[in-house]
Amino acid sequence: MDIQGKTKVLGIIGWPVAHSLSPLMQNAACAALGLDCVYVPFPVPPENLAEAVDGLRALGVAGFNVTIPHKEAIIGLLDDLSEEARLIGAVNTVSRDGDRLTGHNTDVTGFTKSLQDDLKFDIKGSRVLLLGAGGAARAALVGLCQAGAAAVTVANRTPAKGKRLIADFSPVFTGANLAQCTLDVLKDDCRLKDVDLLVNTTAVGLNGTAFDDIDLAPMAPTARVYDMVYNPALTPLLAEAQKHSLLSANGAGMLAAQGEAAFTIWTARKPPNGLMKSRLLAALGGQDMLDNDVYSK
Ligand code: NAP
Repeated sequence: MDIQGKTKVLGIIGWPVAHSLSPLMQNAACAALGLDCVYVPFPVPPENLAEAVDGLRALGVAGFNVTIPHKEAIIGLLDDLSEEARLIGAVNTVSRDGDRLTGHNTDVTGFTKSLQDDLKFDIKGSRVLLLGAGGAARAALVGLCQAGAAAVTVANRTPAKGKRLIADFSPVFTGANLAQCTLDVLKDDCRLKDVDLLVNTTAVGLNGTAFDDIDLAPMAPTARVYDMVYNPALTPLLAEAQKHSLLSANGAGMLAAQGEAAFTIWTARKPPNGLMKSRLLAALGGQDMLDNDVYSK
């Protein structure tokens, strides 16, 4: 990388941020397209967020990603929000137009693109069971409803959070049947039978954790399973889907696709097809869990 006086600076703020794979994906795309840009990780502790955003403005940083724990807190420091960011109440990408900073949420398109690319899943008219009610669930719900899902049930460990999510979105997405329940739904054969897509947006699957006694045998053979967790590549939920020959994918495709969408917002260019995902998978150990010749019927 040949950094010069005119090189545009992009980046990511988070705390911690050293683990982020975004620099790898974004710098690969800049290099592949020959753009004079560099993407830098900026560790920003919560108490320094406002100063950091002022600093990014003052330094003329052209755009940046936002990760945990700043995705919600940054909203009050921005000038505008995209429709998705406003609906979700969280920002993962900031673009700049002169002095104005606009917050976006590219997890929405990242998720729906990965469903299309990795699972060939047609969202329109589908019935979805969404596990979790945090920020990732909000992004998934917005993507599903915008793309015409017929019904989305949110199952969460803490019912109050699931209820709040449904209360927030029911008046917005009147075309979809939105409901909530507890994670016991995973033990309810009748409910599982009627699901076209099961999505895990919880942290379960990370660090060796798993849902208790999960059995996906009642799911229809055409149903799909998506796990937003991507490390490990084969989570216990995906292993269970594989056991029943259900088409399944982990969240690596979503992570790459949200990065592609952010890159396009900043540069008005599309990264080469598959480049970000291949860099990501190489960094994660090279295993492409999304090879559905192996993991599907
Ligand atoms: P969050 O806002 O903190 O929400 C966490 C969710 O996980 C909540 O619904 C929480 O339930 C649930 N949860 C946590 N531990 C649990 C457990 N032991 N049993 C049952 N439920 C549990 O986090 P988030 O931003 O939504 O992210 C959630 C997951 O999605 C993370 O693993 C993250 O890495 C992943 N993610 C992936 C991508 C991608 O690109 N692939 C993008 C975004 C997020 P309670 O409400 O009961 O606490």
